[in-house]
Amino acid sequence: MSSLRFKALEEASSRQPVNVTLPSGKVSDYYGENVFDLEAMKKYLAEGTFKTLKATIQKGATIDRNTADEVAIAMKTWSMEKGVTHYTHWFQPLTGATAEKHDVFLDNMDGGKAIEKFSGGQLAQQEPDASSFPSGGIRNTFEARGYTAWDSSSPAFILGKTLCIPTIYLSYTGEALDYKTPLLKSIHALDNAAVPVCQYFDKNVTRVNATLGWEQEYFLIDNALFTVRPDLVHSGRALFGANPAKGQQLEDHYFGSIPERVNEFMRDYETECYKLGIPLKTRHNEVAPNQYEVAPIFEEVNIAVDHNQLLMDVMDKVSRRHNFRVLFHEKPFAGVNGSGKHNNWSMATDTGKNLLSPGKTPETNLQFLTFFVNVIKAVHDYSDLLRAAIASAGNDHRLGANEAPPAIISVFIGTQLTKMLDEIETKMKPGKVTAAEKKSLKLDIASIPELLLDNTDRNRTSPFAFTGNKFEFRAVGSSANCAQAMTTLNTIMAEQLTKFRKEVDKLVSKTTTVEDAVLQVLHDYIVSSKNIRFEGNNYSEEWVKEAKKRGLSNIQTTPAALDLLLTKKALELFETHNVFTKREQEARHEIQVEMYTKKIQIESRIIADMANTYIIPSALRYQNVLIENVKGIKEIFASRHELANVGIKDKGLSDAFSEGSGSDSLVDTQMGMIKEVSERVSIIKNNVELMVEERKKANQIEHATEKAFAYCEKVKPYFDEIRYHSDKLEILIDDSMWPFPKYRELLFVK
Ligand code: ADP
Ligand code: MG
Repeated sequence: MSSLRFKALEEASSRQPVNVTLPSGKVSDYYGENVFDLEAMKKYLAEGTFKTLKATIQKGATIDRNTADEVAIAMKTWSMEKGVTHYTHWFQPLTGATAEKHDVFLDNMDGGKAIEKFSGGQLAQQEPDASSFPSGGIRNTFEARGYTAWDSSSPAFILGKTLCIPTIYLSYTGEALDYKTPLLKSIHALDNAAVPVCQYFDKNVTRVNATLGWEQEYFLIDNALFTVRPDLVHSGRALFGANPAKGQQLEDHYFGSIPERVNEFMRDYETECYKLGIPLKTRHNEVAPNQYEVAPIFEEVNIAVDHNQLLMDVMDKVSRRHNFRVLFHEKPFAGVNGSGKHNNWSMATDTGKNLLSPGKTPETNLQFLTFFVNVIKAVHDYSDLLRAAIASAGNDHRLGANEAPPAIISVFIGTQLTKMLDEIETKMKPGKVTAAEKKSLKLDIASIPELLLDNTDRNRTSPFAFTGNKFEFRAVGSSANCAQAMTTLNTIMAEQLTKFRKEVDKLVSKTTTVEDAVLQVLHDYIVSSKNIRFEGNNYSEEWVKEAKKRGLSNIQTTPAALDLLLTKKALELFETHNVFTKREQEARHEIQVEMYTKKIQIESRIIADMANTYIIPSALRYQNVLIENVKGIKEIFASRHELANVGIKDKGLSDAFSEGSGSDSLVDTQMGMIKEVSERVSIIKNNVELMVEERKKANQIEHATEKAFAYCEKVKPYFDEIRYHSDKLEILIDDSMWPFPKYRELLFVK
């Protein structure tokens, strides 16, 4: 009897909702109360300092030491009034999590008397002893110094009793060791490239920033059930588990009512998020049982990324209060839908205009078309980098497996806009635009807003879809830091807009207006980027074939996808836009490759451990029961040769046994079961041994990439084989002997 599982089940199924006392008033009463936002700055800073700070933040410039000192004092006063005792530089190392090292405000003890202190220096820079954060060889452990530096464009906030200062994280020699640094650089690159293009249409634009609204999917599992599954605890996903009789086929979970317990959890973490100024907007059930989604109102990309990291952290903490565990893994349960993080992305000007939304005038429509077509062209030219930006061991189970979305990057724009681009393509001949063509095109372009009114055209299977006023990059993994996808998108867009500007400028002459030139270049782009557009079903076999014909990549695994980061084209792109140096790019590649290896290595170890020490022993225990049973039957029936003697009255039964030799036919079935258990156990055992052998070989490999490929191609294939036979045992052996909570329990106990 597997007591752990049943104790956990009992605990989980008898749970009551944890009622938390939440603030009574309106959300707006406490929204942002734990954020040192403009309002707080204004209140706690001298007027002059406030103005300087605000302007510096808006310009994205660095803050001078005096201002920093004053800001530090204001932050300290503000946060201490809220009971804060410690401060930390909050950063996003390449581990994927966020990092904090808390220091108390106390500084030099004046004659034994403690004084709270926090200076501009402490605000601006810190040196975490962070030798264990990944650095891809840039910062070896002998030279363990990296430092964090204040990112004043993202406001400080309070978590618990700690003041958190968003920071970037650099090596002592200046290389980025985090997600935020390149993101900020890519925002800068995009700004540099997009403003001159905006100026074709509107001279008032002086800044362009990217905007991001993420949609976060996750699973909720009862804490007691989670705890007795080593695979969930250590790898975030179920490495074993047969599919339940009832899965998601009834689709009764999607948009269904949210269970009370879950609802209490949601209200609790949402409140925390509102206090942190995270503008959460929607919550709903997702397709799979126990799967949910949360989405905010979009924000500037840097803030949105911080908020997503913060959200995941808050959700993890709050879930425990409600005896839940939140799973952000991309594929926690094979056979059930996985989780993604849709990244809704656009660009906005400092004049308040969304560049992917057409306006009321012909000029703004042409501006829309310009940015719209340039995005498509950028994705066309750099689809491989987008693929690389979403590569991770977890996401491999979605991309490239039979799951949403596929590994082939393509763009969906909807029927109406497809028609529009086709019109432009056919109406215009290459070369200079004629007056007649122009007249006709302008009519088309003027009709864009109406086209978009009917924006019911949705394609849920596309990895990169235009959804009315933004593009939605859907292939991002649910556990990923959005920064990586956003950095790539911003950078390829910066490159694309730079090229565009050059090409347009080259064409403009006495006889060619800017408008003519813009149309001409857009026409070329529409033609040359056509094969990245796909409106059909991205999950179909036909698309895989069609994409191959079109020459689009279909990269299935993380090591292969990461290789794309090291092409000459990739290195040059990021270097040109000052986002990564070659050294940084190589270091990052190495970190990601190693991260992949470690994830697969851990999973492989857990598989071996669970198979050897739980699954096989349980199967053998059940087998013993069968053996005892067979022995018993043989003993009882040994002296009775004729079935009739047993006195079976049921005709069907006695017919069934009328042939054969009594006890033998009675035990045939059990013998079959014993044999099946034996066979499956030995297959599992064999495969585990072979897998461990492959692991040993892989561990001998020095070269990081080769090692990752070995884990991917030699070690990982055993996972499915081992799981297959284990899952068969799960549905064969006595339920009371099965050691782990089953899918039907994990996913349906509320
Ligand atoms: P849906 O995609 O289901 O239609 P919404 O249109 O509300 O839902 O958008 C989903 C996400 O896209 C939300 O987080 C929303 O804030 C975000 N979003 C909307 N407009 C933009 C924009 N201009 N830039 C970035 N994200 C946006
Ligand atoms: Mg959406």
